[in-house]
Formats: sequence, C-alpha cells, structure tokens
Amino acid sequence: MNDRTALVTGANKGIGFHVARLLAAEGFLVHLGSRDAGRGARAVAEVGSGARLLVLDVTDPGSVERAAAAVDRLDVLVNNAGVQPVVGPPGETAVADFRRTYETDVFGVVAVTNAFLPALRRSAHPRVVNVSSGAASLTWSTHPNPQFAPGSPRSAAYRSAKAALNALTVLYAQELAADGVKVNALAPGARATDLVPGLAGRGGDPAEGARGAVRLALLPDDGPTGGFFSWDGTPVPW
Ligand code: NAP
Repeated sequence: MNDRTALVTGANKGIGFHVARLLAAEGFLVHLGSRDAGRGARAVAEVGSGARLLVLDVTDPGSVERAAAAVDRLDVLVNNAGVQPVVGPPGETAVADFRRTYETDVFGVVAVTNAFLPALRRSAHPRVVNVSSGAASLTWSTHPNPQFAPGSPRSAAYRSAKAALNALTVLYAQELAADGVKVNALAPGARATDLVPGLAGRGGDPAEGARGAVRLALLPDDGPTGGFFSWDGTPVPW
C-alpha cells in the first residue's frame, strides 16, 4: 500500500516525468499532473502502478480547484510545470510575453500551492519543492560563473519569473514553518528537454536533475527550509 502521496505538476514529460517516476519508485502514490489528459495517461502508463493521472493546468483556476478537490492528503508537492516561451533581453521582450511566462512560472505555483495547502497540512511531513533555475540566481548573474556569464541579459522573462519564484519560496517557508511544511527551491541544471524550442536535446540527463527534486522531497524533519539547492544538493546563491 502506498501511504505517502505526491503531486508533480507538468509531469507528462521532461524533468517532471522523471520526478514522478522516481517518487513512485520510492513508494509514493504519485498524482501525475498533466494539463492534457492524453499525454498524462501515456506518462502514467509508463510510470506504472504507483502513478495516477491528475489533469491540472496550473494557469486555469477551475482546473486547479478540481484537482485540489480530488486530493485529500498530500505529503509532497513538486511545482515543476514551467515555460520559457521567449529568450530575449528585457528591452526586446513584450509585456505580453512576460505575462505569459509569469502566468505559469509564478502565478501557477501560487495557485497550486495555495489550493493544496489544506491537503499538505494533513501530512505529518509535508514538503514543497519549487523547480527554479540557476539562471534565476542574481549572484550568478552578476558574478563570474562558468554557466551564466555576467552581463548576459537574455531570457529576461524566464529568469525574472524564477527569481520571483525564489522569493516566494522564502516567504512560503517562513509562513508554513509552524505547520512543519518545508519549502525549498531547486536548480535542476541544464537538461535536454523541450523547455526551449530549438534547444530540445541539448543539456544533460533530465533524470539527474529530477533526483535533486526527490532529495528535497525526502528531507528529514531537521532538514533545511527556505533554501535554494542545486540538483547535487549544494546550495545555490540567491
Ligand atoms: P519540459 O520538458 O518542457 O516540461 C515542462 C512541463 O510543464 C510539461 O509537462 C508541460 O506540459 C508542463 N506545463 C507547461 N505549462 C503548463 C501548465 N500551464 N499547466 C500544467 N503543466 C504545464 O521542460 P523541463 O525542462 O522538464 O522543465 C521542468 C521544470 O524545470 C520547469 O519549471 C523549468 O523551468 C525547470 N528547469 C529546466 C531546465 C532545463 O535545462 N531543462 C533548467 C532549469 C530549470 P505540456 O507537455 O502540456 O506542455
């Protein structure tokens, strides 16, 4: 019997799929979030008996409400769904494209987290993992770093959205500390997924990034909260 339950948003492919697969292998009953029922069902079939389809579009209030109503208790929430529709610097990015990005990467996380808070509060060891990005680190953006060259203002919408997500990670961690909910942000590393059109296939193994989310999902009660960690567990500077 699966005692522990998890929800992974945007789990029909990419890093989220591997998070769902790995949590199921850990013995969780995994609610595999997918905004498309068909794509989600195929992913559920691939994961096997530990996974259940949960149709969930994080930008659709009705969808979020229906999904939350279907889950009574939740031990782990992985806010993984994310988009990066544009990659330009701020001066070349339309407000509409900022909004499009923030709808999923920021407001979607708030909507899902708030909707599932009652279910998380029913858990003895609740954990929230926000899948952020090393590209959101203001320190790495302004100091020499082999991965994120300082002075490159590209992907402004995505990086600022993930920086907002980092801020929310700290604030949720503070708000929910008394309830025992640990909330941390993950930098999964550059992974070969469909995230950026045209870049599909480049980057490292998504399963490796997913293991970082699983580590944060399985944190012991004396583990950190309100932190930002790389896929290998090392802290990332804000
Ligand atoms: P991906 O393969 O494109 O997967 C993104 C997932 O999010 C898909 O399942 C997608 O569903 C889902 N999604 C998008 N909008 C959604 C919505 N409104 N509601 C529900 N689900 C939605 O990309 P990925 O690389 O695995 O990205 C996963 C997370 O890792 C994202 O938060 C991303 O920012 C972060 N990340 C990735 C990298 C990297 O190098 N890949 C690096 C740093 C951080 P559909 O299939 O329906 O579109």
